[in-house]
Amino acid sequence: MTATIRKHRWDSWRGYLNGVKVAEFGNTPQQTAEESAKKWLEGQQRKATPQPRSSEAVVEIDCSGVAKYGYMTHPVFVKFYWDIQKDFSDHEFGRRVCVHEAAHALLMEADCIQNVRFLGPAIWFNQESKQFEGRGAMVLGDDMPPGTEITADLILNVSTHAAAGGVWLADVEGVVDAQGEERDYNDFLIRCGTTPPHLRTESPEQLWKRAKAAALKRLTEPRMKEKVPVRAEQYLAQLYGR
Ligand SMILES: [Zn+2]
Repeated sequence: MTATIRKHRWDSWRGYLNGVKVAEFGNTPQQTAEESAKKWLEGQQRKATPQPRSSEAVVEIDCSGVAKYGYMTHPVFVKFYWDIQKDFSDHEFGRRVCVHEAAHALLMEADCIQNVRFLGPAIWFNQESKQFEGRGAMVLGDDMPPGTEITADLILNVSTHAAAGGVWLADVEGVVDAQGEERDYNDFLIRCGTTPPHLRTESPEQLWKRAKAAALKRLTEPRMKEKVPVRAEQYLAQLYGR
């Protein structure tokens, strides 16, 4: 919901929500129409920011995909927002998110994906499913240059990048029930659906298994293994704004 105010006449201001007039302010002995309108606007803007409850916000969450639909005060969103803040108030949770993303990123970069960058948490409203969706963090690289030939090697590499985050936590660090792998696997399955038929020589399960083995091999090479925590530190600094 976007609140705005506009001067309507010399002695009158109006308040609008998403462009619809919802309030009118005149001069009073206590304050001018303009002062009243500005106070009203401040109140509306305060409402649009989820207010801290028990905990304080520890990370910045990109909520632009919620704000544009006017759902910043929706109770489901507000709960979601504070649930994510609560997760990240546990720094071990934040660290795991960052090493997971660092593992993805380093293998992507090793395979020449350009401009790999870290994006922090976000919540958005999915207009199709009519649900709030969110992520803890992600790394994103540029698309492959147009005309890149799709080969079996390329498919394995891209699958290996996707498997790397979960492999680092589960197989290198031995973390049980680490989050994040399920989403990577689901994204992987979606990509499998777009593989050219002549390159579908094995089931997605078989390909994922090979990708995990490849990720483990590459991530445990001494030089790569050293890089992951270093990169994770950079992402942690970005995540917690320090
Ligand atoms: Zn991941």
